[in-house]
Amino acid sequence: MKAAQIYGERDLRVDTLADPKPASDEALIRIQACGVCPSDVKSYLGKAVEQVLPRMPGHEWSGTVLALGEEGKNSQFKVGDRVVVDWRYVCGHCHQCHRGAFNYCENRRKRVRGGFAEIGIAPLTQLRVIPDRVSFEAAAFTEPLACVIQAHSYTKIELGDDVVIIGAGPMGLLHLQVALRRGARVIVSEQIASRLEKARELGAHDVIDASTTDPIAQVKELTQGRGANTVIVAIGGFEPTRQGLEMAAINGWVNLFAGTYPRTEVPVDPNLIHYRQLRVTGSHDFTPHHFTAALRLIEFGIVDVESTISHRFDLDDVREAFETTAGRFGLKSMVCPIH
Ligand SMILES: [Zn+2]
Ligand SMILES: [Zn+2]
Repeated sequence: MKAAQIYGERDLRVDTLADPKPASDEALIRIQACGVCPSDVKSYLGKAVEQVLPRMPGHEWSGTVLALGEEGKNSQFKVGDRVVVDWRYVCGHCHQCHRGAFNYCENRRKRVRGGFAEIGIAPLTQLRVIPDRVSFEAAAFTEPLACVIQAHSYTKIELGDDVVIIGAGPMGLLHLQVALRRGARVIVSEQIASRLEKARELGAHDVIDASTTDPIAQVKELTQGRGANTVIVAIGGFEPTRQGLEMAAINGWVNLFAGTYPRTEVPVDPNLIHYRQLRVTGSHDFTPHHFTAALRLIEFGIVDVESTISHRFDLDDVREAFETTAGRFGLKSMVCPIH
C-alpha cells in the first residue's frame, strides 16, 4: 500500500509499505478521506516536540472495513461497513479515565495508524459506523468537531449572549456554527478576507477584519461597550490571546482553544481577571463522548462541515496538501487516497 511518512522538516514522502495485518481486535480499513490538521502540519514543519521519525501523520480519517481480526468476526462490525476512526485509544482504567478525562489517559498507546495512506488499521473500540447520509469526507471532520464540542463544554453560553470567535480557519468556523446553535449572537474576528466571507456565509452576525481594525475596540462598539460574554480564541499566539482577554465582558468566559508555537508569553494584568471576574479556560482534544456527539451533529446537519473544504488532493499530492494548510491558503484540505 501507499502511505505518506514524515522524515524531517518539510520532508514528506509517499512510500510503498507492506499491507498491515489486523490483530484479533483490529480492523483493516480502506481509507477514503483524511483531513489535514494543523497538528499534522506542525510536525511536518519540524515544530512538534519529541517525534519519532519517520512518522505517519493523519488522524482525521474515514473509510470502508476491508477485513476484521478474529474478535471482529463476532462484533457489531462487518466487512464493507463505512467507518470513522477515533485515533485516541484509551485504557479505560487509569486515574484519568476513571475521572472521565480520557484525553489524558495515562496508558495511551498509538494503535491507530496515520491516515494519509491507502489502508488504515485500528482497534474495533475506535470505530463508529458512519450514518448513510454522511459522506466519507464529512465523517473525517468528526475528530476536529469533537475538539470543538469539548471546548464548548468548558465555556458557558447563554441564549442571546455575545460571543466572539477569534480566527475563522476551519476550526473557528466550526466554533462559529456550534455557538450559533447554542443561541449566541456571534462575532468573528479574522485577518484573511476570504475566511471572513465564509464566516458570514455560515451565519456570523458580525465580522471584524482584524487586518485593518482593532478587534477589541470593534467588539466593544458592537456590544455597547460591554465586551463579549464568551470569547473563543481559535488561533494561537500572543495577539489573539491578549485580545481575547481584553475583549471579554464582566463575568465573561475566555477559552484558549488553540495551541501556541513557538512558545509565547503573554503578560496579563491579574486585575483584568480579578476585577472583571473572568473565567479563563483551556481545552485540548476530546473524549470518546465528544467524538460520538460530533458525528451526530454532522449526521443531523446541525453543523455544516463540508462547506469548509477548499482543496482536495490525491494521496500522491499529499505534500501539496500540507503546504496549502501551512500557508493558510483556503480552508480545509482533504486527501482522498481512493477515488
Ligand atoms: Zn485534528
Ligand atoms: Zn486510561
